[in-house]
Amino acid sequence: MKIAFIGLGNMGGSMAQNLLKSGQMVSGFDLSEQALQHFAEAGGVICDSPQAAAQEADVVITMLPAAKHVRDVYLGEQGILAVLKAGSLCIDSSTIDPQTIKDIAALGSEKQIQVCDAPVSGGTMGAKNGTLTFMVGADHAGYEAVKPILSFMGKNIVHCGAVGTGQVAKICNNLILGISMTAVAEGMALGAKLGIDPQALAGVINSSSGRCWSSEVNNPWPDICENAPASRGYTEGFATQLMLKDLGLAIEAAGQVKQPVLLGGLVQQLYQQLCLQGDANLDFSSIIQHYLPTKVS
Ligand code: NAD
Repeated sequence: MKIAFIGLGNMGGSMAQNLLKSGQMVSGFDLSEQALQHFAEAGGVICDSPQAAAQEADVVITMLPAAKHVRDVYLGEQGILAVLKAGSLCIDSSTIDPQTIKDIAALGSEKQIQVCDAPVSGGTMGAKNGTLTFMVGADHAGYEAVKPILSFMGKNIVHCGAVGTGQVAKICNNLILGISMTAVAEGMALGAKLGIDPQALAGVINSSSGRCWSSEVNNPWPDICENAPASRGYTEGFATQLMLKDLGLAIEAAGQVKQPVLLGGLVQQLYQQLCLQGDANLDFSSIIQHYLPTKVS
């Protein structure tokens, strides 16, 4: 099986390396020379355009920053849909809006090319360790076809439904995460101000009904969770600018179906403000600084 990988950045670079480690033949393309160099060092074959990478491929995986890059790679001047063989399979793992991938999949099916979405959670460590969760939007046959390929790069391969539903799962999960992190930050900061030891408060929350991933694994108060970004100056986590991007996708999708996302809109503004003050690359748990007298960075 010949695999083409387009978008060899922080996530895609490690994912492609895991495919290579499992013995697959992988050709790749990226706009960054440095990304291409790392890929070549791991045994990948460098191509000089998306079309050159895709034309011989049975499977194409894309891992790109945003929808405009995905549209460009599939449908643009060097777009891969124009050169892929009938019967080939495309997997887009970027986080984008559900409608874009549905549009691309419809155009692909006119040429007997199956396009599905498989956004991920697990971050750069999950990409490196091959432990990502993939949220797959595809018909049943498409899911069965992508599952063995994604298993080289992830541990959980979840079928969410038809094309686009992988993105729906991803953006709804991150909408909840962005809100729950803000709720935990608000509660932790209030408790500290009212005089309870933050460690004791976290202990109560984590054995009570306030418990969630943001309180238990990624608590925004420093030194509650030893390995959380809050315990190392909010570095090396899930960047605030990526959370802001995902909230924007959720709010945009909500607008398309006229569904209210009241808390989503509010926390989007809070994360936006962090980015504006220069903290876009800090972990999103640094949202707690809205409740503290001093800046955390
Ligand atoms: P990144 O910016 O590190 O990598 C993207 C790569 O795409 C870059 O190397 C860039 O040069 C390349 N690229 C851009 N346009 C291109 C084009 N037209 N042709 C070829 N290559 C092109 O981003 P990342 O952190 O790897 O994230 C990729 C996607 O995964 C994003 O949609 C992001 O939201 C999602 N994601 C990221 C994380 C994370 O923790 N970083 C977690 C989950 C999901």
